Amino acid sequence: MKRVYNFNPGPATLPLEVLQEAQAEFLNFNNSGMSIVEISHRSKPYEKIHNQAKADILELMGLGDDYEVLFIQGGASLQFAMIPLNFATKENPGSYVLSGTFSSNAYKEAAILDVAEIAASTKNDNFRRVPNQDELKINPNAAYLHVCFNNTIYGTEFHYIPETGNVPLFADMSSDMLSRPLDFNKFSLIYAGVQKNLGAAGVVIVVAKKTFIEKSPDILPTMLRYDTFYKKNSLYNTSPAFAIYIVGKVAAWIKNSGGLEEMARRNSIKAKILYDVIDNSNGFYRGHADKSSRSFMNVTFRLPNEELEKKFVAEALNNNISGIKGHRSVGGMRASIYNAMTIEGVEALADFMVKFRNA
Ligand code: PMP
Repeated sequence: MKRVYNFNPGPATLPLEVLQEAQAEFLNFNNSGMSIVEISHRSKPYEKIHNQAKADILELMGLGDDYEVLFIQGGASLQFAMIPLNFATKENPGSYVLSGTFSSNAYKEAAILDVAEIAASTKNDNFRRVPNQDELKINPNAAYLHVCFNNTIYGTEFHYIPETGNVPLFADMSSDMLSRPLDFNKFSLIYAGVQKNLGAAGVVIVVAKKTFIEKSPDILPTMLRYDTFYKKNSLYNTSPAFAIYIVGKVAAWIKNSGGLEEMARRNSIKAKILYDVIDNSNGFYRGHADKSSRSFMNVTFRLPNEELEKKFVAEALNNNISGIKGHRSVGGMRASIYNAMTIEGVEALADFMVKFRNA
């Protein structure tokens, strides 16, 4: 069986052990004679998986029972709308840090509802960096400050947790969720589409302080209300059982591998390998992100011209390296090196980059 080194930004590579386990169990889940995709979301065996995945996520994040984990469909993109619908008003607007495409998309949804303002933006720097603490202009009446912790397209990441005073901090962690330990207690709400670091597309994990999600505004329809998901243990309607089952397996894999400390150790080794190749290439490879904001998850870089970039992608594939082409808004290359990407895979890419440059 041939598997490539998969550097796709999401859906992305998953731990081989997780795929193998899911394959082995696929036809006969838990001795039920049925597949996980065939059993009821209200059955006991499924409920066990659902609740264990929630417990493992909280444990990995070091959060107590003042936090709740919700499973919601509609992608991280629906969270862009649900957040202002549930929390922002004209008097207490949502305050947004614009640091890339997805944070801008989140802002747009709140702006449609006319409950948005901008706390900071690095658009004029072509999103090469995230703003510093002292650039954040946080309205003390804001319902929340929204940040995108890792900017998947531009390859930048927050390396500090913004101080927000009394304003609750909300974060989109779609592309760096569970990649490193953080003081998660400083956040009131965190969300992540799981298809990068945590599983198969089809579900979003929302981790929120219970006090924030126990009561939504009366005018909201049922499926747009956080309190529906909270009160019904994310089982008000049919849950995406397969996606949650894979999330549970990935969370268990992270736990068994040594938790977030070990993920951070591996991720910093991987990132350093690639940034070192870029920095030691005499300008052949040019990183997009400013050094201070470099992401440990998505390494973005350009080559001297587009022709070489095309050649790089094609030759990479011949070397078993897939998914390396960058997003069209940045151009060049992007190596997504989430938790499941092995150090061996990153070394293969680094070797190829050196070879390509010397050719
Ligand atoms: N936020 C970030 C940081 C992302 O990388 C993405 C997807 N690439 C999204 C949000 C949007 O996620 P979805 O496609 O699940 O709506």
